[in-house]
Amino acid sequence: MQRITVVGLGIIGSAWAQNLHADGLTVRGWNRSPKDYPFYEADLAKAVTDAELIIIVVADPPAVESLLDVIVPHLKPGQIVAQSSTISAHWTKIFAQRVEASGAEFLEAPFTGSKPAAEARQTVFYLGGTTELVQKARPVLARLSAHILHIGAVGAASSLKLAMNLNLALMAEALSESLSLARAEGIPDEKFFDALHLNVGRSGLSDLKEPKFRAKDFAPQFSLKHMNKDLRLALETAGGLDLPTAKALKSFYDNGIVAGLGDEDFTGMIRLLADSHKSEK
Ligand code: NAP
Repeated sequence: MQRITVVGLGIIGSAWAQNLHADGLTVRGWNRSPKDYPFYEADLAKAVTDAELIIIVVADPPAVESLLDVIVPHLKPGQIVAQSSTISAHWTKIFAQRVEASGAEFLEAPFTGSKPAAEARQTVFYLGGTTELVQKARPVLARLSAHILHIGAVGAASSLKLAMNLNLALMAEALSESLSLARAEGIPDEKFFDALHLNVGRSGLSDLKEPKFRAKDFAPQFSLKHMNKDLRLALETAGGLDLPTAKALKSFYDNGIVAGLGDEDFTGMIRLLADSHKSEK
């Protein structure tokens, strides 16, 4: 597979497209707002024509839907559309049907690993689809990733992805509240993290985010608005299953959006705690 199109050149799509381009593949990349890459193609229909693999990685279900409105009429049998934006199983199945009606194949391909992982080809893909389709896409996805997990039929991978992000959102909130309590008690961050390193509460997330918390650097690796979207999709997916802490966290995240933190890293939620502390005083 040589002709690859990446639709959506945000934090993740731009890293993936640059890595595939560096590998010498024939890459085209499309983005809603223009980008300055040698592989940038401003016309979406042209960008997908004759691509063997089309990777979609944009914000949310409405964004994917609006792109498929343009892409689907140009699809042909033999092409594969890999949908990597984090969406729910509900939307994934609708989009799979639309793509398959054109004769092209649909691969559900959400992933984990934020900006540094995408740049370092350490993404982990969760795939939904047939084993044959997974095998066809594997050589390209392997260039972008450290692991490829075939989860099951279309829909399963999206639900797993939302379950994983729910865990991360809750872990980040637990870490933020713990750190905020220590700070309010005058404990230096250095002592807090020295203790955390020797505590079973240490995690991959705390290791990844420690430098950002310590430097109060909230430049987005994974934005708060997207985590808010994932909490919403997780709660929609849960249906009758009660997830009380997730519900509470979703309303806290809504406050983060109202406070204008949506484009920052999701760890930026800690600022709402700091603000509540200031208003106490
Ligand atoms: P991002 O940097 O915010 O980029 C979002 C992309 O979606 C941009 O290319 C944006 O175009 C495009 N977009 C938004 N609305 C659109 C619309 N209505 N029509 C067409 N394009 C639209 O996001 P990201 O971090 O790369 O994440 C992309 C997806 O991967 C999201 O679903 C996210 O939840 C998921 N994800 C991200 C991470 C991560 O750590 N970053 C990890 C796992 C999964 P413009 O540039 O024109 O705004």
